[in-house]
Amino acid sequence: MTDTATATVPPAPEAKPALPGVQVDPANGKPSLRRFLGDAANLFKGMGVTFRYIRKPSRVVTREYPENRDTLKFPERFRGQVIMPHDENGDHTCTACTLCEKACPNGSISILTTKNIASKRVLGAFVYRLSSCTLCNLCIEACPFDAIHMGPGFEMATYSRDPLDLILNKKEGR
Ligand code: SF4
Ligand code: SF4
Repeated sequence: MTDTATATVPPAPEAKPALPGVQVDPANGKPSLRRFLGDAANLFKGMGVTFRYIRKPSRVVTREYPENRDTLKFPERFRGQVIMPHDENGDHTCTACTLCEKACPNGSISILTTKNIASKRVLGAFVYRLSSCTLCNLCIEACPFDAIHMGPGFEMATYSRDPLDLILNKKEGR
């Protein structure tokens, strides 16, 4: 009869470490030929793409930024920053109705008004704070006069926030 109080439990055999590069089945820790073949197939698939572009460099889709800055093409709905288009005379269609200001959820727009020579209330300054804008597009949707759009700008890095406070209208009182 064995004395259970003094019996020693033999240590569990240590698992053999997998050889470098050998694919192991995570379920049982044994080398897996199926995983190895799958990984090898993926490797050759990737190399196939590389060789295809080497043979036909004209098909390369990588954009060489910033060398291609002048020829960059943006998708139609790209949201870079809010802009106010002006016509050839420097005029815009903003009526200072403040609907965009009210629609902005984080106060990124301030409409400052003034009076023209006919004492009519007109836009003085359209202040746009790009640093807090989330590009949600709500202001653009709220504008009934199509006076503001989303522009393609994207190089916005600055050393302080001040340069990101923009006046979108070129001329006061238009
Ligand atoms: S895009 Fe959104 S966050 Fe930016 S100014 Fe317009 S409403 Fe405000
Ligand atoms: S941009 Fe449009 S919504 Fe905003 S104040 Fe001007 S007219 Fe009104």
